[in-house]
Amino acid sequence: MKVAITYHEDFGKNGFSVLRERIAPSFEKLMESGLVDGVDVQVFKAKPVPLKLVEEAHTEAHMANMQSDPYREVALLSAGSVMMAAEMVAEGKAEAAFAYTGTAGHHASRGSCWGFCYFNDVAITIQRLREKGLKRFLIVDVDPHFGDGTRDFFKDDPKVFHINFHSGSDEEHDPEKNNYDIGLTFGASNDRFLGALKSALVLARDCDFQIAFVIFGHDSHQDDYGGFNLTNEAYPRMAQIIKEAVGEKGLVFVLSGGSCIHVAEQAIPDVIRVLAGRWPS
Ligand SMILES: [Zn+2]
Repeated sequence: MKVAITYHEDFGKNGFSVLRERIAPSFEKLMESGLVDGVDVQVFKAKPVPLKLVEEAHTEAHMANMQSDPYREVALLSAGSVMMAAEMVAEGKAEAAFAYTGTAGHHASRGSCWGFCYFNDVAITIQRLREKGLKRFLIVDVDPHFGDGTRDFFKDDPKVFHINFHSGSDEEHDPEKNNYDIGLTFGASNDRFLGALKSALVLARDCDFQIAFVIFGHDSHQDDYGGFNLTNEAYPRMAQIIKEAVGEKGLVFVLSGGSCIHVAEQAIPDVIRVLAGRWPS
């Protein structure tokens, strides 16, 4: 299979209020596109992540705080979606995957969270993949908000190369720890963003990662709520650049920020079309 898509209708019904309106319409557009053929591109129903893995990743105090949170269940389901997608790629069942979510993960640290995030879906999944013997990972966080939670997990871990876009003006690369922050000032264009992405991926090549995660926030679109000024053309180009850089290794897109329905309706099927090797159609 070329692309595994993990999805659950609860993401659109019970997902975080800002994020959920885009879910069902973008999924419908994807199903209408003809891309999902049940052979090369298949959809799988997400299941909640095992609680034990979440408890290993987060502090007891954070778990206690989350106990009564109204988004707890959908956050567990979102992390489960990411894990299911990544495991299919790691096991060689799919070349690439796209995980839908109802809450985001990159602002969830070990002991706290903010910004529509509850549990760090990618960090929990990396922990799981390490149990299965994988060692080195690439995270490309293209959401325009700083992935502080993910950085909390991996700041001192040179086996996780973390490319982290954010709205700002500074660029910082720590080659010892493989942390690379790229600040793009408010209103960054497609070319500015894609150029910075290409340069960062050249540096990531030496990290010898086995699987790559893309924290895919389309809040970077000019009509959405984040800081960049991207247009629809940016997303398939971005996916193409990342796919080429990743090559034969596993690639998992994880849905992150974004609320704009028309952006999601275009960007999500476009990205999946690239992952399936059917771009341009
Ligand atoms: Zn964001």
